[in-house]
Amino acid sequence: MNFVTDLDVKGKRVFLRVDFNVPLDENGAIRDDTRIRASLPTISWLLDHGARLIIASHLGRPKGMADPKMSLAPAAKRLAELIPNKVVMAPDVIGDEVRRLKRGLGEGEALLLENVRFYKEEEKNDPGFAGKLAEAIDVFVNDAFGSSHRAHASVVGIADLVPLKAAGYLMKKEVDYLKKAVHTPVKPYVAILGGAKASDKIEIIESLLGKADHILIGGAMAYTFLKAQGLGVGKSLVEDDQSEVALVILEKARASDVSFHLPQDHVLARAAEAGAETKIVETLPFPADMMGVDIGPKTVAAYSAVIATAKTIFWNGPMGIFEIEEFAKGTIGVAKAVAASGAVSIVGGGDSVAAVKKAGVKDKISHISTGGGASLEYIAYETLPGITALEQ
Ligand code: AMP
Repeated sequence: MNFVTDLDVKGKRVFLRVDFNVPLDENGAIRDDTRIRASLPTISWLLDHGARLIIASHLGRPKGMADPKMSLAPAAKRLAELIPNKVVMAPDVIGDEVRRLKRGLGEGEALLLENVRFYKEEEKNDPGFAGKLAEAIDVFVNDAFGSSHRAHASVVGIADLVPLKAAGYLMKKEVDYLKKAVHTPVKPYVAILGGAKASDKIEIIESLLGKADHILIGGAMAYTFLKAQGLGVGKSLVEDDQSEVALVILEKARASDVSFHLPQDHVLARAAEAGAETKIVETLPFPADMMGVDIGPKTVAAYSAVIATAKTIFWNGPMGIFEIEEFAKGTIGVAKAVAASGAVSIVGGGDSVAAVKKAGVKDKISHISTGGGASLEYIAYETLPGITALEQ
């Protein structure tokens, strides 16, 4: 995979895919510009080296239709505040006006295209649409690690149509860290998986069975595993359609060398809301009118003991409904254990990153990934469609 600094971009039209998928408030103002700032090293390097820069990103899920509430115009404005270069906001992603703007760009100037997901062809990786994105482009640079698990036109399709391609700084940093964890993890390797949906993570768990030494499960996902074994979990969030695969995973885990851990105790609540009546239980079934909302203190202690032995840690997904203070102790406990471990630690996913910040241990994490889904898939499949496209 080429790195952007390997290229001579002077005077060239460079199509840069970034992740400007920033959170907006109800007035359309940017609530957090971390993702824009994260792309600055690549943007500045390209502009400083004389590129005529065309920047593309998605924002939200406009489902293939132009929606002014998901316009990238606020991102263009913010980018213009952050760099000294001229930044022009395009009225569209493709079309005559965009073609004109692309051709009129001077060296060291940037054009931000509208939200690529305003076209349904983007997510379908439509070759015709990719061709229009690639029009008049000499170089393709991908710095959108967080979108690179998607085979979309601006991530994958365009890469085949442009002669020169490379990874940006952010992409390279992510891949360098994840590569180490995947290919040469210093053992013991502990994977911690939580969150709401088992269906998102089942395949990843399966692939980790052959790699990790310990897999620690928390969050609602744990109840899918417990219920699949015939245990009563009350009103807990469960994905019943995943129970068969969950049983297969448990069986495979038993037959493998990995230690597969499910919570030993649980914080139960009558409702997933602050102030709800709670209790801690070690045995199942749960009362029919209660739901599991966090791992209990015994589990926090047991998981922390495993984490303390780790040399490599990968964590994705909270251990409970951590957005609610009373149900955040398990997630915070795990965050502190990860920080104290001294292991190479990789944390991905918006929620786990928020938890690490909430626990005040962000600085003690080796690598905070900008892509939750992308880092999970990289860990499982050892590459991503967007990375393969850069390598071909
Ligand atoms: P995910 O996107 O799958 O990583 O899920 C993150 C979400 O899982 C967070 O919003 C948590 O509130 C939620 N979550 C974690 N544990 C539970 C639980 N026991 N019951 C319901 N939701 C949960």
